[in-house]
Amino acid sequence: MDMQTSPARKQIDRGQLLIGGKWRDGVTGETMDVTDPTTELSITHVQKASVEDAQAAIDAAYAAFEDGPWGRMHHEDRAKILFRIADLMDERAEDFAIREAMDMGMPYSDFRGIIMPHCSGLFRFFAAQAMAHMDGGYRTSYEPNIRILTRREPLGVVGCITPWNFPLALTCSKVAPGLAAGNTIVHKPASDTPLTALALAQVALDAGVPEGVYNLITGPGGTIGDTLVKSKKVNKIAFTGSTSVGMNLIRNGADTIKHQTMELGGKSPNIIFADADMEAALQAAFWGIFWNKGEVCVAGSRILVEQSIYDEFVERFSAMAKAAVLGDPLDSKTQLGPIATRAEYDKILKYVEVGKATARLTAGGGAPKIDGRGLFIEATVFADASNDLKISQEEIFGPVVPIIPFKDEDDAIRIANDTDYGLASGIQTGDLGRALRLADRIKAGTCWINTWHKYHPNAPFGGYKASGYGREQGAEALENYTQYKTIWANLG
Ligand code: NAP
Repeated sequence: MDMQTSPARKQIDRGQLLIGGKWRDGVTGETMDVTDPTTELSITHVQKASVEDAQAAIDAAYAAFEDGPWGRMHHEDRAKILFRIADLMDERAEDFAIREAMDMGMPYSDFRGIIMPHCSGLFRFFAAQAMAHMDGGYRTSYEPNIRILTRREPLGVVGCITPWNFPLALTCSKVAPGLAAGNTIVHKPASDTPLTALALAQVALDAGVPEGVYNLITGPGGTIGDTLVKSKKVNKIAFTGSTSVGMNLIRNGADTIKHQTMELGGKSPNIIFADADMEAALQAAFWGIFWNKGEVCVAGSRILVEQSIYDEFVERFSAMAKAAVLGDPLDSKTQLGPIATRAEYDKILKYVEVGKATARLTAGGGAPKIDGRGLFIEATVFADASNDLKISQEEIFGPVVPIIPFKDEDDAIRIANDTDYGLASGIQTGDLGRALRLADRIKAGTCWINTWHKYHPNAPFGGYKASGYGREQGAEALENYTQYKTIWANLG
């Protein structure tokens, strides 16, 4: 279909839990409301799983791993099922895109054009990785009669806990390598945005994933997530979310020696030098912060600009921000949809007030309604900001950005690295040598040169410092879902 058309909202069925290959209600019968941030109306209800439901999902995944075919199946057979998942996802792309637009306000055309190919691509990529790299090795020792075989094995049950800002993409980046390696899955999506998770679980069933291999439980992180991280039957937690919840999970996983990967928050610097192509730098900065209304862990949420072009940049960037089109994410003209949840909306507006008191507002700052409704916040720019301000140090997670001046390369790197976080960064310059030199000095897991927001299943992704550890995507990610067994053979 034409991605430029504007599809309509649709009816979404009430969500259930997927446990042991069967959809069912939770034991308490309690449900959670799912709200559309554009209309502020209820879309549907999903189950509010209890600890008992979470335990049942863990038991199902554990039994499927211990006794089922999945972990023992040849990786090529598993790969065939992953390829089927990818194809079914592409066939159902419109449904996924409408769900994400209604659930979290992501523009439909961004989802169809960028996110969906990435998500199905992750399944194809990890299917191929498993085929190429799940075999072990054969080695020799300094003792001539000794041979060493290494086996690469799955970990067991993987608990995937995902946030509300890129619900499908951040689920696929865990589930695809997890399944490819032969693990079984219990997925707990964010309570605010469970709709694509429900659709993906159905795809997995339809693609032929065996019973119990893929389980989905919707419910509050404080109880369900906690049950997952403390369970002895769960061998790994793959988490994306806030740094504070990540720290909690690390502490709570200690008693069971949990494998964990942590994709956490960010406050990523976008460094713009005077020799950059100004128009291209403006675009990189604009989309760097305002894509998905700034609800992006790797948003370029601190713009650092060389002093000699500072005034011109602020003026032109602020004009672009003022012209940004807010609206219904299902409308193809929309650049910024609504903020995903009321809680985030309130939090961002508090930061806007802090910004107004500590820096110079040059664009935005308002929260307009469209047709009388919607959690919209304007693209908001604060100039004359210093790096020690609250708006420069804390993750706002919305369409709000401070612009900070710098003197020279050393000053830029000092400011860029003066943050607890280390997720992404960017350098806009006409001097590629300088860009590569400075990329070495930035303490962040990703550095974009003369661009922003580039992703590929093949490219490792993850954080430094308080932004977490472990990598999702790339061949490196398979490491986080496998363990090695070394078998020594005495030939006699
Ligand atoms: P969050 O509050 O940390 O929640 C993330 C997930 O953890 C949700 O499923 C949540 O469930 C669950 N959870 C909450 N409390 C828990 C607990 N005590 N134990 C176990 N699980 C718990 O994060 P968010 O607000 O959804 O997401 C925004 C954050 O994610 C930002 O900081 C952003 O930077 C970060 N993020 C990082 C990346 C990356 O790749 N590095 C990517 C995207 C987002 P409920 O929804 O039920 O509370």
